Amino acid sequence: MFYDELKKYDWNETTARIAAKTAADVERALVREHLDIDDFMALISPAASSYLEPMAQLAHKYTLERFGRTISMYIPMYVSNACTNHCVYCGFNHHNPLTRVTLSMEQVKAECEAIRKLGPFENLLIVSGEFPALNGVDYLEKVLHVARPYFNNLTIEVMPMKQRDYERLVHSGLNGVVCFQETYRESTYGNYHPRGMKSIFEWRVNGFDRMGAAGVHKIGMGVLIGLEDWRTDVVMMARHLRYLRRNYWKTRYSVNFPRMCPAEGGYSPSVVMTDRELAQLTMAFRIFDHDVDISYSTREKPAFRANMMKLGVTSMSAGSKTEPGGYVSTPEALEQFEVSDDRTPAQVAQEIRALGYEAVWKDWDKSFDDNGC
Ligand code: SF4
Repeated sequence: MFYDELKKYDWNETTARIAAKTAADVERALVREHLDIDDFMALISPAASSYLEPMAQLAHKYTLERFGRTISMYIPMYVSNACTNHCVYCGFNHHNPLTRVTLSMEQVKAECEAIRKLGPFENLLIVSGEFPALNGVDYLEKVLHVARPYFNNLTIEVMPMKQRDYERLVHSGLNGVVCFQETYRESTYGNYHPRGMKSIFEWRVNGFDRMGAAGVHKIGMGVLIGLEDWRTDVVMMARHLRYLRRNYWKTRYSVNFPRMCPAEGGYSPSVVMTDRELAQLTMAFRIFDHDVDISYSTREKPAFRANMMKLGVTSMSAGSKTEPGGYVSTPEALEQFEVSDDRTPAQVAQEIRALGYEAVWKDWDKSFDDNGC
């Protein structure tokens, strides 16, 4: 399990190693085809901030080689904002006195139909808070059955589960799971996640092993930028990704680096990442792992998303609503966070075309699923 592997790495020592990287380390990393973790540290270090141009050229080259001029499109569907966790930075925090909504199956169906009218989406990300009695495995299995006829590729971003629950959902048509570790710094993790199942660091970080062992086709991972030193966190995530690739080699992987957005509860990030730093990180990740899918959500602004399309990003959401029932409109619900790109899917696709790229709505067919769902 990755928790045991993670214990080998000291947080402060990793931070110091990144800070000590020099221009020579960056130049060495830039001429290697297969990078190790030390090379990755060099590319995200302050020393690499004057090498963004050669990094952009390399990131562009690897992205073209592996993905062509394509951007895979997806859309989130929030099905429940009920949550027993107390994440201090989140609008769905159990403390916040907001109206809790868990969509009925009729409402899920109506959301699916509304999304299909927005654009030819085939990649659906089903998102929920963590409240096992309301939006646990039984509920999610029903949601998958309702959504399946509308979409070819179903991914969930929900509570971490047992291996046998992932297996059950895979059998019900689940293709992918996204889970954010938020931070790999165990000593402060509890400050941000004081109560609820999410407070158990080991359960969360080992969830990725359970997904891999259950045969989940694609695993998405990420850290929340705004909690801890982002450089150290993404190095830990890069170690995690390498570990998963070694152990669950049939699985595809994606990464995401969400920057904290304003949310109900008014939490202010203690760490701010600039656009330039996010660009450096995105390019460094592409150079480090040529095959990983790098996803940008509507948290990022349109112009920035457009720039990064050529430099490593390979999938994007569009037209997103971040409250349950948002596509049909449930006025009493509340957004999990504010989006920065509120263009329609057609407008986003139009811009992708204008930049010489193709918006890919479908890159998986349900007939490929082993269970024939
Ligand atoms: S981040 Fe997720 S688990 Fe935490 S309070 Fe928000 S919805 Fe719940």
